[in-house]
Amino acid sequence: MSKLVIVSNRLPVSVSRRKGELHFTPSVGGVATGLSSIRRRFESVWVGWPGVNIEDVSSSEVELIKNRLSGDGCVPVFLSSHEVGAYYYGFCNKTIWPLFHYFYLYMDYTHDYFEEYKRVNEKFCEKVLEVAGEDDFIWVHDYHLMLLPAMLRKRLPNATIGFFLHIPFPSYEVYRLLPPRAEILEGLLGADVVGFHTYDYALHFIFSVMYLLGYEHTFGEIAVGDRIVKVDAFPMGIDYEKFASAVDNPRVIRDLKRLRRRLGDVRVILSVDRLDYTKGIPQRLEAFDLFLERYPEYREKVTMILVGVPTRTGVEHYMMLKKQVDELVGKINGKYGTVGWNPVWYLYRSLPFHSLSVLYNIADVAVVTPLRDGMNLIAKEYVASKDRTGEGVLVLSEFAGAAKELGEAVLVNPNDIDELCESLREALDMPVEEQKERNTLMQARLKRYTVSRWAEDFMDSMSEMKQLKSAHAHRKVDDKVLSSFVERFRESLRPVFFLDYDGTLVPFASRPEKALPDEELKELLGSLSRAAQVVIISGRDRSTLDSWFGTLDVGLVAEHGVWIKKDGGWETVEKLDKSWKEQIKPILELFVDRTPGTFIEEKEYSLAWHYRMADPDLAVRRARELKNTLLQLVANLNLGVMEGNKVIEVKDARINKGTAVSRWLSEGEWDFVFAAGDDVTDEDMFAVLSDDAISVKVGMGHTRAKYIVESYREVRKLLKAFVEGKVGKE
Ligand code: UDP
Repeated sequence: MSKLVIVSNRLPVSVSRRKGELHFTPSVGGVATGLSSIRRRFESVWVGWPGVNIEDVSSSEVELIKNRLSGDGCVPVFLSSHEVGAYYYGFCNKTIWPLFHYFYLYMDYTHDYFEEYKRVNEKFCEKVLEVAGEDDFIWVHDYHLMLLPAMLRKRLPNATIGFFLHIPFPSYEVYRLLPPRAEILEGLLGADVVGFHTYDYALHFIFSVMYLLGYEHTFGEIAVGDRIVKVDAFPMGIDYEKFASAVDNPRVIRDLKRLRRRLGDVRVILSVDRLDYTKGIPQRLEAFDLFLERYPEYREKVTMILVGVPTRTGVEHYMMLKKQVDELVGKINGKYGTVGWNPVWYLYRSLPFHSLSVLYNIADVAVVTPLRDGMNLIAKEYVASKDRTGEGVLVLSEFAGAAKELGEAVLVNPNDIDELCESLREALDMPVEEQKERNTLMQARLKRYTVSRWAEDFMDSMSEMKQLKSAHAHRKVDDKVLSSFVERFRESLRPVFFLDYDGTLVPFASRPEKALPDEELKELLGSLSRAAQVVIISGRDRSTLDSWFGTLDVGLVAEHGVWIKKDGGWETVEKLDKSWKEQIKPILELFVDRTPGTFIEEKEYSLAWHYRMADPDLAVRRARELKNTLLQLVANLNLGVMEGNKVIEVKDARINKGTAVSRWLSEGEWDFVFAAGDDVTDEDMFAVLSDDAISVKVGMGHTRAKYIVESYREVRKLLKAFVEGKVGKE
């Protein structure tokens, strides 16, 4: 049975040294909770950094830590203080964190940081290899380990690897600022499933891959060599019941009463965050200042409880933020405070679950207004904590991933202090009925998609990819399959090969006229044509095919089946009309003008619009637009619109590669049929073949072909084997 190997920067158990003693503290974080249900279903191991530097423990303590952690199913990766400095505090927290949260001016990048990041990712890779096998599921977490999926893929080509990013993936315009941008994308594409909190982040990733690496996607599936990488959104949830039921806990009830007595008769606005510059804390305080200024009737009636959890305290931008928050709190309290009332209660510390629950429960309003946040669990926890009464208002930044699911919150732009100030008033004045209505809808959603569901959903996606891969594996042409093909070919008396040209026998070139057949190919086709009937079946025009293959003894099919050259002369399959070209060409020209890098190829009975050289995103959008425009026009002209590899082609609807192949097959007695092609137009050819034909699709993607090969090189390898097989016999 497959096991699950979870890999994250930190283990769910932290090791620390206090007063000389080692302490093991389990993490109660969301991921650990979500994965606990999965860990009950699978045999599992968790690989990660235990939190102590290797210099700070003796070798006997290293053994002790290993033994103790192995009891919890954990395997530690020990790091030196230098590694932690450059990899974690450096590349992770000073380069990736600010950039991915759109704070690109805070980005600090050095070559050394990245080198260390690579080395540490390799260290994790070695550790994972000690426990994982090809049949296992490996789930890698977060921005600390973005190179790891590709490293693992190299060593365990068949393992099922997932990656989940817990922070935003920025838009391409921001992502491209990262110096090692291509390496990071390649690293992530080592996974079978790449998951994000929201669909926006997934799209940003897909676009970045398209622009920087040139890989296409269909419905979120990216074809990378002979693999498919699935990109999807999995919005992480919370342990709903835990937060909903906290208010039933006697200790929480007691502390709630105590806090109420201390606060007196004031309403509570709650703000809880790590003290991070992405969280928008100064803006929130400025808005509260403006609120008390603008609406003096609320003075002494509202208190803001501000919890700032210390984080990355040695880093410059965090120290500056701490100072700024201290000053703002001081300013507001100095300006409005009275003997019995402090406008802001500031707690600079981390609170345990039960204290946090007390605050969630007492708060009339929670303001969660990060400038950017991958998800934000505080927002969800607050809404869940209001399960029993349904009262309470969430003010939420539209730049938090959670805003995608919590649309009933009061959504705000956290950069707009005026709007923030007004949203506080709206929240405090909201009728109870409306509060309940909004919360009920959000609670229903949070109850359904809990953190356990999130983890299960991700695992299901990995399982699907595993199945897909094994289905694809059956369609690969390995040596055994190839020798059976060759055997059948040897036995045959009248074999025929239908071979598409571009993408099947040669790679794509920037312009079609540049993709000339090389000598090796001509020789190969020459030898094959002495042992079999070879038919080059292409979308190209007849004069091109003639000039390239006229001297060989091969059949030719041009313009996707419009023209057939069988015994020396070209003929059309049907009597065809080409007057429609005058109508259609101006439309294509308009699209050429609007889409730099595209051009028209005019053939006798068809017109093609090529977009290989255009900006990929724009071209895909224009292609869709053009196709829709054409489809409306061609219906009564008997024309068809075909999509090929970066090309849209218009021609007579009755003609396709399938009709041409059928005609060829019907005019002879063939006892061995082989067909290879790479794009949608070749599917027509695969569709008309009988069951005993060998059909081969080049590249990944949905196909009717029986077999799949990675590239034109493999097609040539197959053809060579056929030639050698036949020659060997003679
Ligand atoms: N949290 C906590 N004690 C605190 C403040 C926060 O345990 O004093 C927890 C909180 O319950 C939540 C997490 O920390 O689960 C914060 O997650 P979030 O996604 O909101 O922000 P992040 O810190 O990951 O940026």
